[in-house]
Amino acid sequence: ESGLYIVPTPIGNLEDLSLRARSVLETVDVIAAEDTRHSGTLLRHYDIDTPMISYHEHSTAQTTQELCDRMRSGAAIALISDAGTPLVSDPGYRLVRAAQDADVPVVPLPGPCAAVTALSAGGLPTDRFHFEGFLPNKASGRRKRLQALLSVEATLVFYEAPHRILATLQDAGEILGEAREATLVRELTKTFETVRRLPLAQLAQWVASDTNQQRGEIVLLISGAEAAGEVDAEARRLLALLAKALP
Ligand code: SAM
Repeated sequence: ESGLYIVPTPIGNLEDLSLRARSVLETVDVIAAEDTRHSGTLLRHYDIDTPMISYHEHSTAQTTQELCDRMRSGAAIALISDAGTPLVSDPGYRLVRAAQDADVPVVPLPGPCAAVTALSAGGLPTDRFHFEGFLPNKASGRRKRLQALLSVEATLVFYEAPHRILATLQDAGEILGEAREATLVRELTKTFETVRRLPLAQLAQWVASDTNQQRGEIVLLISGAEAAGEVDAEARRLLALLAKALP
């Protein structure tokens, strides 16, 4: 069937490719991959020899249009990213919109996603969550975003780079409150898979004292503001700032 297939791929353990994902990757005319070299490993593991082309965040509007034209003429294209679900902190948004605008069917497959996998084992409320993805690289931008999230009453979900995790935990403790519970979820589906839930202050201490926790791929979950405790949190934050400033 012609159309655009959104195909999630494993986030570490190659066994996590679904049977349907495998058969779609085998049967489409072409696979649009974020990084063809990276995805080659997965395809070789499953003996899939479907041709690949590259499609990433810097792909031009013209490339997007060409892919749509091919699908309109009957081609089936699978979109994959380096890991997990395309479009979740990954490329694909413009292609999906262009396909829809061109009346090309867009068929999403369910599958691996680091955010949802982390939530499932994080031990924090999952009835409501707020996906924040990557915080800004610079401290000032990061602190501003955290500030903006202060009163969100849903579990906060972040993707974070290993060399920034400690600074982020420290800033989050200062801005959101040291007592808020958080879960560090690291290296999901891989050898050093780690899930650790602690109040922010202790979690930061733990990560600071063990540099292994500053490696690999990380999802950080932080519990949301408590419905009634929101004002308290702001008060506690100001108190903490005052306490620092006072002799
Ligand atoms: N599209 C992917 C998904 O569905 O999860 C996310 C892509 S984003 C560019 C990559 C980030 O996802 C990593 O920096 C890390 O924060 C998180 N991530 C990916 N794989 C992970 C894993 N195995 N364990 C923990 N976090 C992971």
